[in-house]
Formats: sequence, C-alpha cells, structure tokens
Amino acid sequence: MTKVVKIGNLKIGGKNPVRIKGMIKTPHSQIRKVISEAKRLEKEGAESIRIAVREDKDTKIAAVLKKHVSVPIVADIHFHYKLALGAIEEGFDGIRLNPSNISKEIHIRQVARVAKNYNVSIRVGVNSGGFKKEFANSKQLADDMVKRVQQFLKILEKENFFDVMVSLKGADVVSTIIANEMFSKKFDYPLHLGVTATGPFLEGVVKSSIGIGSLLSRGIGSVLRVSLAAPSFVEIQVAKHILQSLNLRRFEPDIISCPTCSRCEVNLIAIVDKCKKELALRAVDKSLKVAIMGCVVNGPGEAYQADIGVAFGGKDKAAIFKKDKILGWTDEKRVVGDLMREVTKIKGQGSGVKGQGRI
Ligand code: SF4
Repeated sequence: MTKVVKIGNLKIGGKNPVRIKGMIKTPHSQIRKVISEAKRLEKEGAESIRIAVREDKDTKIAAVLKKHVSVPIVADIHFHYKLALGAIEEGFDGIRLNPSNISKEIHIRQVARVAKNYNVSIRVGVNSGGFKKEFANSKQLADDMVKRVQQFLKILEKENFFDVMVSLKGADVVSTIIANEMFSKKFDYPLHLGVTATGPFLEGVVKSSIGIGSLLSRGIGSVLRVSLAAPSFVEIQVAKHILQSLNLRRFEPDIISCPTCSRCEVNLIAIVDKCKKELALRAVDKSLKVAIMGCVVNGPGEAYQADIGVAFGGKDKAAIFKKDKILGWTDEKRVVGDLMREVTKIKGQGSGVKGQGRI
C-alpha cells in the first residue's frame, strides 16, 4: 500500500480510488480555448488538470483556471526551477518536475522548501526521452529511469519533503512496466502511470491500455494519465474505460456486445452505438451490464449473464432478457427504444462493480 499524497484536496494513493488526470493541449495564447478545454476535461471526469508552464507569465493561469474549474491544477515544469517557485506562489496545487532537466541539488532543495511552505505536492516525472544514450534492452532503460528518480527523491528527502508522486514513462510499453514494477518494490510513493509518446491514436490506445492496465491489474498505480494523439477529453474517456475494464471504478453501464459475424442479420454495430448514446442520456444504474448480441449462438448465454440483454434470432426477431427471463420480443427497428424502456425500470440491481474502490 502506498502513502497518501494530496494535490489540493484530491487524495492520491493508499486506499483511494485510482485517479484520472488530464492535460491541457491548447497554447496559453488562446486563453478562451484553454478555459473551455479545462471545463471539458473536468466535465469528462478529469480529477486534476495539468498545464505546461514555459515562462513566468504562464504561472498566472492557475488563478484564471480556478475561476472556471474546481479540480486541482498542476504546473508542468521543465528546465527552469524558478518557474516552479513562481508556479507554487501563484497558486498551483501541484507541480511536476523532470529530473532529466532540473537536477541541481541546490535548486531542487529550494523548490522543496517553498512547496512545503505552500503545502504543494511534487510529481517527480521521468520520461524515456530524457535519456540520450542507447539502451541494449528495456530493462536497462527501466533501471536507469528508476535510478534517476531515486537520486531526485534523496534530495527531496534531505529537506524532509515527502509529498511526492512519481512517474516513470517510457515510449515503449515494456520499459514502462518494468520501471514501475521496480519502483513499487522499493518505495511507497504513489505512482502516476502513463505511457509517453504513444504514436498514432489506435496504437496509443493499445499501448496505454496494455502498459497502464497490466500495472493496475497487479495493484500498481494510484493515478493515471493517458497520453494520446487526440483531443484531451478523449484521453479521459480512455482512462475511464481502462479503469472500468479492470473493475477498479465504474462510470457507466457495461455494454457486452458481440463483434458480429456472417450469422448476424442486423446492423448490430449501429444498434450498439445508439444504445451507448441513449444510455449516456439516462439516469441509469451505472453498475448494469447490458448485453446486445447478434444471434442465438452466444446471445442468450451472454444475455442471461448480464442484467438485461437482447439477443437477435434473425432480422425481425430479438428476445429481450432480464437475467434468465424473456421479457418480450422486439425487432431491429424497435430494439433500442424497447431495451431502453426496460433498462430504466431497473434500479440498484446491477451486477457490476459498484463504487470507486480498488481491486
Ligand atoms: S453472437 Fe452470433 S452474430 Fe455475434 S459474433 Fe457470435 S456467432 Fe456471430
């Protein structure tokens, strides 16, 4: 079990739910867009928002954002320790420092002293891009990432500064997994998980899901940020799906639908998309499992195991199940409406994970 560290009022680590962080992608010069991006991130489910701070005037953004969102704001600092001092004084709730470009002991200790005074936590975040040498294998890179973080932690600890989170992100999934495993065996600081520089969107989703998901499934990781070549709110959506897939947190009903095959005589993919949208519009039990299956091969079985489900038995015939009972019959045109009507009748009986706990 890790120690608990706070970013503003947000508790991270220990028995707290695995948290979701988002990051602003709009330049500071487009302030209205920055604000609307922050609002969208919060609405989508980001529990803390990070923004790059590249020069002195950027530190003022904390106060601006705090007028529009209520989640804690974190400054992403590279190269200049004085920017960290300014960010803390201007009201950021947390700062991220990169040991690969802020490494002088005197500077780090000064930041730690000011952060302590202002009750601001620090994330020590190392990325594989910060290493100029070539590594023969992922293990060596992981080992070097952990060593670099370790040196930084020693300096912070000399100042009795322990409000620390750590991230070790590789562009390669394997080094990310190994580095986080190694670190979690030695330290009890909460780990912020992520895979960095993940490439095109689809590849990024796969790399993030495998890297973050495999660590979380072993109980490693207290907070995550998914990094994708996509709008920032999409990163939050993917983060939520990762957590929900591992039964760590629940954000929406779980849709169990088949991939379709040549047995399927309806446009099941469109039906699933419509159901997803309709479910999002309704105040339904988030722990529900809803099955939507294309034929009788696996359909009835999956529908029985879900809380409610529909299984097609041809183009014009589908059975709506509630657990092991057939509630009635429907067809391709009416299926979404009929299913939604039954879903909204179910209150507090969902069989999925409830609440926001850890595995
Ligand atoms: S449930 Fe039926 S239609 Fe769907 S993938 Fe399986 S066999 Fe194919």
